[in-house]
Amino acid sequence: MTQTVYTFGGGVKTDDPRAKDKTITGGKGANLTEMSEIGLPVPPGFTITTEECVRYLNEGADFSDDLRAQVREALGHIEATVGKTLGDASDPLLVSVRSGARVSMPGMMDTVLNLGLNDATVAGLAATSGDERFAWDSYRRFIQMYSDVVLGIDHGLFEEALEIAKEDKGLYADTEMEADDWKELVAEYKSIAEEELGRPFPQDVTEQLWGAIKAVFDSWDSDRAKVYRRLNDIPGDWGTAVNVQAMVFGNMGDSSATGVAFTRDPATGEKAYYGEWLVNAQGEDVVAGIRTPQYLTKAAREAANAKPLSMEEAMPEAYAQLADVFELLEKHYCDMQDIEFTVQQGKLWMLQTRSGKRTAKAALKMAVDMAGEGLIDEKTAILRVDPMALDQLLHPTLDPEAKRDVLTSGLPASPGAASGKIVLDADTAENWVARGEKVILVRVETSPEDIHGMHAAQGILTARGGMTSHAAVVARGMGRCCVSGASAVSIDMKARTLKIGSRDLKEGDTLTLDGGNGQVMAGEVATIEPELAGDFGVLMEWADRHRRMKVRTNAETPADCQMARQFGAEGIGLCRTEHMFFDAARISAVRQMILAEDEKGRREALAKLLPEQRADFKSIFEVMAGLPCTIRLLDPPLHEFLPHGDAEFEELANVTGYGVDHLKRRAGELHEFNPMLGHRGCRLGITFPEIYEMQARAIFEAACEVAKESGEPVVPEVMIPLVATGRELELLKALVDRVAQEVFADTACEVEYLVGTMIELPRAALMAGEIAEHAMFFSFGTNDLTQTTLGVSRDDSARFLAPYVDKGIFARDPFVSLDIEGVGQLVQMAAERGRATRGDIKLGICGEHGGDPASIQFCEETGLDYVSASPYRVPIARLAAAQAALR
Ligand code: ADP
Ligand code: MG
Ligand code: MG
Repeated sequence: MTQTVYTFGGGVKTDDPRAKDKTITGGKGANLTEMSEIGLPVPPGFTITTEECVRYLNEGADFSDDLRAQVREALGHIEATVGKTLGDASDPLLVSVRSGARVSMPGMMDTVLNLGLNDATVAGLAATSGDERFAWDSYRRFIQMYSDVVLGIDHGLFEEALEIAKEDKGLYADTEMEADDWKELVAEYKSIAEEELGRPFPQDVTEQLWGAIKAVFDSWDSDRAKVYRRLNDIPGDWGTAVNVQAMVFGNMGDSSATGVAFTRDPATGEKAYYGEWLVNAQGEDVVAGIRTPQYLTKAAREAANAKPLSMEEAMPEAYAQLADVFELLEKHYCDMQDIEFTVQQGKLWMLQTRSGKRTAKAALKMAVDMAGEGLIDEKTAILRVDPMALDQLLHPTLDPEAKRDVLTSGLPASPGAASGKIVLDADTAENWVARGEKVILVRVETSPEDIHGMHAAQGILTARGGMTSHAAVVARGMGRCCVSGASAVSIDMKARTLKIGSRDLKEGDTLTLDGGNGQVMAGEVATIEPELAGDFGVLMEWADRHRRMKVRTNAETPADCQMARQFGAEGIGLCRTEHMFFDAARISAVRQMILAEDEKGRREALAKLLPEQRADFKSIFEVMAGLPCTIRLLDPPLHEFLPHGDAEFEELANVTGYGVDHLKRRAGELHEFNPMLGHRGCRLGITFPEIYEMQARAIFEAACEVAKESGEPVVPEVMIPLVATGRELELLKALVDRVAQEVFADTACEVEYLVGTMIELPRAALMAGEIAEHAMFFSFGTNDLTQTTLGVSRDDSARFLAPYVDKGIFARDPFVSLDIEGVGQLVQMAAERGRATRGDIKLGICGEHGGDPASIQFCEETGLDYVSASPYRVPIARLAAAQAALR
């Protein structure tokens, strides 16, 4: 019999490592156990393991007798510790039933508070607490939450009933409701539940308990949890643990409170306690944005110019206890902690701690600061920062010099800047983004159902909710800019219009958000490029000290090359020459070349292109100043360059002197059924050698000119695409070498160069040993290698890849993160066979995967020499490469 239930609190200690293993008891359960073992005040409870959840979900939603027995025994532990019994009418124990997966999924799964209340126990609670109002307030909370989470009744019905009750009595805040008011409302709630359910609200506390456990297990497979998992790459087979814990009450009057806190500022990384709290309230009040929470510290309250007292001022003793806990937990976990607490009649209770989510900026600052404080070492600091999160910092920010038409300000809930068209609901956000718009999602407050719209949007603006509201937490996690609690925003959903302050706006109008200071502006505001300064620069330097692989960039314009160098690129891994062909000034020469009848016609057109290409390469070599540059010769199917529509054909007819009919016939002849597998890549060079000749000439002439002018070495690496056989490369290498010698002779200048190939066909990987006889380097073109190995077209896969990921067929989109199991084998094999033939063969990767941390880890393990990523991903790749080397 495996233990599936673990108790915590009440002074018990366990030596079973499973109890503190997040994969078994979930993050919440493991940390509650740990907190209570280091002596912090944690209400006693127990955790049902994630394994039990997985079993439950796989085996048809049934509880075993064994589980029931273990739960009964663990409940006994809570009852003995607290000295109260679940369902005891004279002195009832109340519990919370809380979800808790391996990693936190804010708001995605369910929790029920105040469980154990019914018509009999509510009287006992009133008697023992001496506070009738509190007892009935707790009961109405329980009925609403249990009905929503377990019974599936729309919570709007209860909210409406509460609003009407308050209106009838002329009350404004929930805290003004008296015992009798709540009593009346409970009667109403029960009849709502009965009407919806067709039977009375469950009074049996054991039924309540198992109902809640079941609901938490089931919530793992809710739609919103699935969407969240897909967005965050969380596997579907982890399951959630269930925590059942004795209730402590923040709603027992003015000496009671509840709150959430961070040991450092999660938005900026500042070493200052940060949090929000509410007097006389229960946990969900803070996060749900129903009441506007108060500041935790005096300094924060004063900085915000707010009136309601901070916890530091209103409850100095409980606050002092809390501050001690902050210090202790940071030292214990060596990381910033995100904490949930409740104060019951002056006494502090800890309800949760975890390493807090943070913005990229805060992650960098905390990592560098904590290393400085000696809390962690340099290696840990490097490993602490999620490389993908850096993406947030690598985008343009608002130009401080630009003019701002500020409509209002809210809370700076998640940093960054965003401009886009106003949309008022999540589905609209998704639809508009699908048709290519940038949008700002504007809501009164967000809920977990909005997550797909938040993901689609550039930024999020809410009228209600604090810095720890759902919108704020989720936006920070996603790296979306968010301004919350902008109370000057009022929305009319029917008319699909909104007012911000005195200004009338409508869905579709453009808005700009500044997540750094909370400003909301009309129209679009100019932006500036990011730079690697401050903590970012420091951490990058540390990363560079620890990485083995070089990081190059995929770039073909001097501007991109310049940007990539600023971001630390150490060369070009992929310069796609065809991008230069699309330029408006040259496309007609390209078309003339393609549509020419014979070699002579092609050579005439190529002669026009040569000086253009040479100029391109010159400017790239100049920017890259001595760094290696891998230039790929023409790759795509030729018909991609053909004219579209009659106007373009006519224009081309004028330039070339061919008739439109002739051109259309030639274009028709170039049609291919499956162009990705057609006349492209090195097949172009084999059939039309004059094309590759021109490109090679342009490269070497440019290299010689720059070498002469600058006196510095220039290092071209000529890359032949889509090779499947050694013979293809042998022929084309001979061509490149011949052109090189001609240019060197003509210019009386010589540069060092390499000729190599992309490995992007399964056959090339298999034949890598033979191909390496002619290749001085391999660059893994993993985009095409993935397409050709899986037999999946990247451009057509969107329709089925999401369901494939949902069903667990692929762990992640294989075009985003390398399919290590499958495609990875080919990469490994090719690397080995290539090295066996040519010991010093240079190996790199230039697909999209070169900027993906998991794929970079694989490249490190395979011993590649470099990865190549798009310019904005270069810092991500530098950090990921360092982490890979350290792991
Ligand atoms: P989530 O994972 O959504 O944060 P939790 O299980 O942490 O859900 O519960 C949400 C809030 O409910 C907590 O922050 C806390 O304020 C309150 N809560 C949970 N359990 C208890 C308890 N035993 N006593 C008092 N409040 C509780
Ligand atoms: Mg929580
Ligand atoms: Mg390719």
